[in-house]
Amino acid sequence: MVFTLVRRVTAVCALSAALASCGTTEAPHAARPAPTKPSPTATQPPRLTPGPGGLTPVFMNGPRTRGKTVALTFDADMTADEGPRAASGEHFDNPGLITALRELKVPATVFMTGRWADEYPAEARSIGTDPLFEVANHSYSHYAFKSDCYGLPTVGADRMRTDVERAYTALRKAGVPHPMPYFRFPGGCYDQQALRALSGLGVTAVQWDVVSGDAFATDADAVVKQVLDGVKPGSVVVMHCTRSAAPTTERVVRTVVPELRKQGYRLVKVSQLIGETSTRH
Ligand SMILES: [Zn+2]
Repeated sequence: MVFTLVRRVTAVCALSAALASCGTTEAPHAARPAPTKPSPTATQPPRLTPGPGGLTPVFMNGPRTRGKTVALTFDADMTADEGPRAASGEHFDNPGLITALRELKVPATVFMTGRWADEYPAEARSIGTDPLFEVANHSYSHYAFKSDCYGLPTVGADRMRTDVERAYTALRKAGVPHPMPYFRFPGGCYDQQALRALSGLGVTAVQWDVVSGDAFATDADAVVKQVLDGVKPGSVVVMHCTRSAAPTTERVVRTVVPELRKQGYRLVKVSQLIGETSTRH
């Protein structure tokens, strides 16, 4: 099952890869003091404790036993070579989806590629300055950080760190003032080498435990079912915010959100789930 899930996730991402990618977060470099009790003004986002040698930690889902919370995440994919497609009218953004999230008051985490922020700076700024959302890092170019990742071009190990930093730069340039220290690997593909390459950036890698299947889906009901079947307390759901690759996502959200709330779920951002998990705040 796990294998199937992973393969499906990857397939989703590969499709997305063709579109673009989304999400960059700021990488805080300086270790901030660890307050014993976070105050309202201490806004440093929670992160997982790095592994041995500073190895980038990986987050998949929140605690299963601390209440019915679920985080919807949206990857704003745009691969570096997709500029001509955008120029010819293909929509890698999805303003209707963002509007739906606002109307339904759904806190959400957007993993934005730097390339997407370059293409849609006004939207990136609008999302990045809305307290309902948090914007995280999905690389600059949406190239894979591990070989054989659903057909994505691959970033060399010596370029991985630079690609993530370039994404943070692009996000800030677009007007995202405080990108989160979370990074989602394009295609969800990574290995120890990739985790090592990003060590010291201060990011927590964020995966997921529920694949919505929204990439290239045409049947919204099937996506809805897959999400509702998969969600458990603490789940992280991966979806996409690009009309061309995930045209049903707005409809899915408008159905899934009321249903999850009816089941007693509270929608939260990834940072909240990490905060409930991390040993360091
Ligand atoms: Zn992606």
